[in-house]
Amino acid sequence: MRYVSTRGQSEPVSAQQAIIQGLAPDGGLYVPEAIPTLPQTLWRDKMPYSTRAEAVLRLFLPGFDGLLPRFERAYSRFNHPEVAPVTGSDGHNLLELWHGPTCAFKDFALQALPHLMDLSRTLTGEKQQICVLTATSGDTGKAALEAFRDIEETSVVVFYPQDGVSAVQKLQMTTQQGANTFVSGVIGDFDVAQSGVKRLFTDAELKQTLEQRGIRLSSANSINLGRLLPQIVYYCAAYAQLVERGALRAGDKLNVCVPTGNFGNILACWMAKTMGVPIGRLVCASNANNVLTDLIGEGVYNRNRTLMKTTSPSMDILLSSNFERLLYHLSDAETVCDSMDALSRTGAYTLKPETFNRLRADFWGGCCDDAQAAKVIKERFEQDSVLLDPHTAVAWQVYDQYRLASGDAAPFVIVSTASAFKFCGAVLEALTGQKQEDTAGLIDKLSAFTGIAAPEPLSTLGGRPVRFDVSTSPEAMKLSVLGFLGI
Ligand SMILES: *Cc1c(COP(=O)(O)O)cnc(C)c1O
Repeated sequence: MRYVSTRGQSEPVSAQQAIIQGLAPDGGLYVPEAIPTLPQTLWRDKMPYSTRAEAVLRLFLPGFDGLLPRFERAYSRFNHPEVAPVTGSDGHNLLELWHGPTCAFKDFALQALPHLMDLSRTLTGEKQQICVLTATSGDTGKAALEAFRDIEETSVVVFYPQDGVSAVQKLQMTTQQGANTFVSGVIGDFDVAQSGVKRLFTDAELKQTLEQRGIRLSSANSINLGRLLPQIVYYCAAYAQLVERGALRAGDKLNVCVPTGNFGNILACWMAKTMGVPIGRLVCASNANNVLTDLIGEGVYNRNRTLMKTTSPSMDILLSSNFERLLYHLSDAETVCDSMDALSRTGAYTLKPETFNRLRADFWGGCCDDAQAAKVIKERFEQDSVLLDPHTAVAWQVYDQYRLASGDAAPFVIVSTASAFKFCGAVLEALTGQKQEDTAGLIDKLSAFTGIAAPEPLSTLGGRPVRFDVSTSPEAMKLSVLGFLGI
């Protein structure tokens, strides 16, 4: 299996090269030359999560030996026997992806990534140490820290926007353990932190300095192939659970609604469907930053608008990088090049009619604002004691819109991407109607108000010492990295 760049200007590479490199040299993303078909057993039958994960990923990663014991270790850190349980009643299924060590769905890919990188290094004979450098709007950073901490030959550096993450997300990162971890705030918003990190990746002098000391920079962002592949597995696991409990007959179509930001999670769902999992409609849910709703509705990607800060910050994004992969699969490298060129020149591009039709054959897009999401959080809690986080609430609301607009009565699952306790301020405000000052102390308050215990990694946060209380200016990020690496 070879991996090609979505822009078609770089040579095809092996899986191990794609995982180590992250981005292709022509600026494109790596995609499999052909998408494999899944044996039916992998979405139909009951089996341990790690067994399923190994069988699915083996199709993409020839030569990666010994995945099973590694996945067993990675997914044993999840606090639920199903790892990705489907819960809910009354036809409203929730795929809960927040039982991992950091309580958001990013753990599924990031707990696997160190193993995929390690095996890739062995296969390519890479000798350099890896420094995983990440800018985060909250969830990716903590998941990367927790995944790479104390991994040999590796260090992990995370920059977060000083005032752009929730109080719980911040405390999760500043209390991080591990001798090879470093966390710093950046004075500015997420865009400032992200462009600061991008600058470090393209800094030739820094690259040379690090190379002399045997260090290579690497990314844990969702553009990395190693982030995408593990996310296919939970869609197979969800389908199999619904078959097991008789909610689906094997082969029935299941609709899926995904709260979407960078288009990584929903792309994994589309891959699962393309590989043969009987998935029907993919509903793409956005918050007020509704670039994707317009794209799926009108065929035009237009990022010329102001980024809005919402109560679902992991979806506050105007540039959904992974859509480039879908565009490639639905068209060709030339179309991707033209579109990305137009995007960087004018901030917009228009899909060709045949590409637009193919997109609409699988996807439906909708959006909702903070007030609508808050109403869903309150209703769900009061009517059936289900506590939704703001991202999941957006998806719930958008799926209601879809059912009303389409009349589609097929079984469906709503993807629940984070624990509500990561966003205590917004959730308490939705439940009580009273303004809350967001502090980590709200974990106990939310727990007391709802009678629901916070997940263990969050309920014990208050007692942990803060290790990283520094913030840096964007200009000084390079110095912080060098200082941490002892250079
Ligand atoms: C990252 C994230 C999302 C968005 O996922 P994408 O793969 O970027 O589309 C949604 N919800 C939560 C809680 C997240 O952390």
